[in-house]
Amino acid sequence: MILVLEKDITQNQKSNIRSILFREGYIVRELSEAGQNIIGAVGKGDREVEFFKKLPGVAKVVSISTAFKLVSRQLHSADTLVQVGDVVIGGELITVIAGPCAIESRDQALTIAKEVKRYGAVLFRGGAYKPRTSPYSFQGLEEEGLKILAEVRDVTGLVVVTEITSPAQADVMMKYVDVVQVGARNMQNFELLKCVGRIGKPIILKRGLSSTIEEWLMSAEYILSEGNDNVILCERGIRTFEPYTRNTLDLSAIPVLKNLTHLPVIIDPSHATGIREKVSPMARAAIAAGADGLMIEVHHKPEEALSDGPQSLYPKQFGQLMRDIYVIAPVIGKQLDFDYLDKVTAVDGLSKVNGKEFQRAAFLGEVGTFSHKACTQYFGVKVEAVSTPSFRRIFESVKKGEVDFGVVPLENSLTGSIHENYDLLLEFDLKIVGEIALRIIHHLIGHQDTGIDMIKRVLSQPIIFQQCRQFFERHADWELVPVKDTAGAVKEISKTGNRADVAVASKEAAKIYGMTVIEEGIETNPRNYTRFVIISADQLDKGPRRKSSLIFSTGNRPGALYEVLKIYAENGINMVKLESRPIHGKPWEYMFYVDIEADTESEGFKPVLNSLKDKTDYFKILGSY
Ligand code: PEP
Ligand code: MN
Repeated sequence: MILVLEKDITQNQKSNIRSILFREGYIVRELSEAGQNIIGAVGKGDREVEFFKKLPGVAKVVSISTAFKLVSRQLHSADTLVQVGDVVIGGELITVIAGPCAIESRDQALTIAKEVKRYGAVLFRGGAYKPRTSPYSFQGLEEEGLKILAEVRDVTGLVVVTEITSPAQADVMMKYVDVVQVGARNMQNFELLKCVGRIGKPIILKRGLSSTIEEWLMSAEYILSEGNDNVILCERGIRTFEPYTRNTLDLSAIPVLKNLTHLPVIIDPSHATGIREKVSPMARAAIAAGADGLMIEVHHKPEEALSDGPQSLYPKQFGQLMRDIYVIAPVIGKQLDFDYLDKVTAVDGLSKVNGKEFQRAAFLGEVGTFSHKACTQYFGVKVEAVSTPSFRRIFESVKKGEVDFGVVPLENSLTGSIHENYDLLLEFDLKIVGEIALRIIHHLIGHQDTGIDMIKRVLSQPIIFQQCRQFFERHADWELVPVKDTAGAVKEISKTGNRADVAVASKEAAKIYGMTVIEEGIETNPRNYTRFVIISADQLDKGPRRKSSLIFSTGNRPGALYEVLKIYAENGINMVKLESRPIHGKPWEYMFYVDIEADTESEGFKPVLNSLKDKTDYFKILGSY
């Protein structure tokens, strides 16, 4: 049951409620949900609900209707985020776990780990205790395998996960690994579930071969009821009558689970299909269906693998899959970051340089703008997002060191470049250290009881009116009021209380300011993406740099631009953007903005750099990232 507490409850009343619940044999969880303080109480207590309703400080009591309680969304409406080292599972960043079925040797594990890390995996998997169908199959390297996993973590920085098959392994698991997996065959091994409930490490709980979702959630309940709230559910295919795949991947489990539970959900398409070429299509579908992450078997020599070779991807195939996921994720409002771990380490490393425990990043407007979303998706929760009134102020704050980073939009797929920021990049001597693309979905937001025919004024940024042109053409009598930022518009109408005023902004903004979405997705073209860049005073010392942004100008001679572009062509450098901007104070002369797929700081780029400087009048590297 859920006890909703009165707003002005005293500390004494709260302690009294807690001790009564303990005495009656309940497991107690104190939560804060949508601004309300609640106590979740789960257990076998046999008192009537009426008894608890009468306790001083209790506003109301709601019973949880499902068999599972602690894992239920009824108890805990917000998503649970499971933190392992620097990795957060269950948020807006897709988590990819990859590695071989089994650890076979130090060399094998390190080779595969380096490959999967290069392509953007954040957790490394590998079995040391293998639950094999046949007693004559390879059973795993046991503790030796765990030691190798620990070494993989030390060498690569990847977080490591392995399967536990018996409570007797709990101590060695504690010693060597970061995340513990309960396999499909042990999903209802209740002694093992109780054991991992006390282990103090996040648990990946795989779905049993023939288990219903409810049985699976009841197993998760065992782990939570022992005090371990960090459980990640992993769908890995169930037994059906269909023999063409090893199992049948139940993708509908994702939206079903998302409704029933607050726990993160990941998908293992490797065991689900059992066939290499079926893994990537199902992985892509899983992300599109809302999975928080993937667990993929990868082997550099699958034909020699001691287990599950036929379903293991070659590293290159894994890399290709990651590129696909990178593209799919923003469609559903998430991100895959190829450099996630290196970036966190680099941002943390700044503390040593500037002595500040937390870094700060400036974004445009109020909390809830798309810039704010870009900021939190890029940095996660460890960097403080600082609301800033204008793009110029963002550049100034970074320059003065008031913040460590700035997040600014550079271009939109429908409306083109945000020229103000291109000009500011030229004016301020700052570096681009990263980029992130967001899909921009606009919502018409108003008061709960605002009907579409009551609307008279719409508040938003002018560029957003352009992106929703067709929708507003159908409502030509509405007055479009330009404001500085989208979330600010929602905040303003929430304050005035005028039912005839609405705003256009993100779904998040509606939620933050307690407003209602009147019409969803009103942008003219759903392929509406904005690319943001992260600016900083210095280059960020993170992983491989894939892309660079440059500015240059040439003399006004025939073929001058051609000579510069020829350098890229001759060196096989892919140019992904070219744009020209007038040079201030020099009519009809232009500055060129170029993005290339290369690292300007690499040794190999040096000769190219010299040629470029040779052929240009002005040349500046905005950053490699
Ligand atoms: C595994 O992940 O290697 C494994 C044995 O998976 P499952 O328990 O899903 O069969
Ligand atoms: Mn396997």
